[in-house]
Amino acid sequence: MRQSQTLIPTLKETPADAEIKSHQLLVRAGYIRQTASGVYSFLPMGNKVLKNVEKIVREEMEKAGSVEMLMPSLQLSELWKETGRWYSMGPELMRLHDRHEREFALGATHEEVVTSLIRDEVKSYKKLPLYVYQIQTKFRDEKRPRFGLLRGREFIMKDAYTFHTNQESLDEAYQKMFQAYQNIFTRCGLNFRAVIADSGAMGGKDTHEFMVLSEIGEDTIAFSDTSDFAANIEMAAVNVTYEQSDETALELEIVDTPGYNTMDEVSQFLGQPLAKGIKSLLFKVDERYVLVLSRGDHEINDIKLKNALDATHVELASEKETKQLLNTKVGSIGPVHVPKDLEVVADHAVAAIRNGYCGANENDKHYQNVNPDRDFNASSYQDLRFIKEGDPSPDGQGKIKFAKGIEVGHIFKLGQFYAEKLGAQYLNEQGKQETMTMGCYGIGVSRTLASIVEQYHDENGIKWPKEITPYHVHLIAVNPKKQDQLDLSEDIYKQLQQNNISVLFDDRKERPGVKFADSDLIGLPVRITVGKKAQEGYVECKLRENGEQEDLHVSELVEKISSLL
Ligand code: ATP
Ligand code: MG
Repeated sequence: MRQSQTLIPTLKETPADAEIKSHQLLVRAGYIRQTASGVYSFLPMGNKVLKNVEKIVREEMEKAGSVEMLMPSLQLSELWKETGRWYSMGPELMRLHDRHEREFALGATHEEVVTSLIRDEVKSYKKLPLYVYQIQTKFRDEKRPRFGLLRGREFIMKDAYTFHTNQESLDEAYQKMFQAYQNIFTRCGLNFRAVIADSGAMGGKDTHEFMVLSEIGEDTIAFSDTSDFAANIEMAAVNVTYEQSDETALELEIVDTPGYNTMDEVSQFLGQPLAKGIKSLLFKVDERYVLVLSRGDHEINDIKLKNALDATHVELASEKETKQLLNTKVGSIGPVHVPKDLEVVADHAVAAIRNGYCGANENDKHYQNVNPDRDFNASSYQDLRFIKEGDPSPDGQGKIKFAKGIEVGHIFKLGQFYAEKLGAQYLNEQGKQETMTMGCYGIGVSRTLASIVEQYHDENGIKWPKEITPYHVHLIAVNPKKQDQLDLSEDIYKQLQQNNISVLFDDRKERPGVKFADSDLIGLPVRITVGKKAQEGYVECKLRENGEQEDLHVSELVEKISSLL
């Protein structure tokens, strides 16, 4: 491709709203442009790299036995009402009306559409298992669209769905998809980990997220420093045996704690370690209130809480609700002398506290020498806290460390949730109606693209990995007005194309400095510069990856570049 004929609008300045490298560089290097918050155009170069990621995804999906199709973005509300997600998805689901006032959603995901389609078209066990996928635009009205392609409101997703007659068949599909995902992200050149994730409200158990390791990731991964254990911090089980202290139990005592509200403040004021504090939080769990206890140096994990209490929604009670129920401010609540009908649950660590301290349900007062079971009762002790760095790994091997990750993929054993809601049934070998079992598997294709840039860049621009790069070679004629340079460049341009080496030919009448800066920014793996030595047939070959350069004769160029790629 001749650079004079394509559209690569590079920018010198970093766009003010772009906080992270991938956003800055993709805009500056002329790959993408924003048209509305979280909505982007892929310019010719952006489209090329996107298609390259898609190609990898397609090849690996087909290898896993999945067939491609394409479902509509415009989806009737009735389907979403059948699964209840019309109501539970809230404002994230984009909604609209047609001219007959019928309600539609713009597809945020396709479980509803695909399940109803397969329900209507597959009636017998003979057609199962079935693996289908699509690569398509998704719409989500994200609360905080940001970081360019990482969190858009319109973005490209690969979503696959599998349909089965039994659990073993689903397990097999899950394994194949897991392997396909490993292959995809490896081929994208990414440093990533598959982590155990939360299955959320949709039932089913096994679910993994694929996380690209990156400082700017929104998720925290807890991993073992010696084994291959890795989990989203939301899900990492805490497997600690807490030593019971042999202190003798002292008498319960009430003390003034004027203006001291947080665990840190109270611990300092009382001169007691944080680990002796009993942190008490009032949660609204679906329609009821629950007082949740943890050790002062631990944090309650609301996903664990939600799962432990078999709830669909948990959130902290408001200041007002706390006041109504316990007649005190948030900083002074505790489990001693609470209303009889208020359920109290505690993290395992609380059971081992001796002579601890906690809020006294009276403004600016705390109890000291609090002992579980003597001074309060919890209805259960469970694993409710976030794992911490240094905790033992739940698999018994090594200690936990943290890393930040960008979620690029998610695989999920759905079970029968959608099939039941939408009546996806088949006839089994005995001619009996049975409900299908399903799996679903997503990849954020545009997010993956941005993640690659997060891991492949330097201060001058992008450094594309080989399978993703829009072109292999950036061919630069330093001064195309000089006939020898122009002729040699044209000759090399032809030769490379004839040998299936894709090439972007900078034939523009720009200053060399501009061309080189643009070239670094754009980030193709190999740069061929045709300059002063053109007359003798020599050009400079430079690698974007490490800056290595050498002079080569035009006769050895094709072979050299082929070996590099
Ligand atoms: P997140 O927690 O980041 O919001 P999610 O759990 O909502 O992600 P899924 O519903 O599992 O995501 O979607 C499948 C994949 O689509 C994700 O793994 C992610 O890579 C991608 N994805 C989700 N939301 C966005 C978005 N707003 N912009 C770009 N990609 C996204
Ligand atoms: Mg989301």
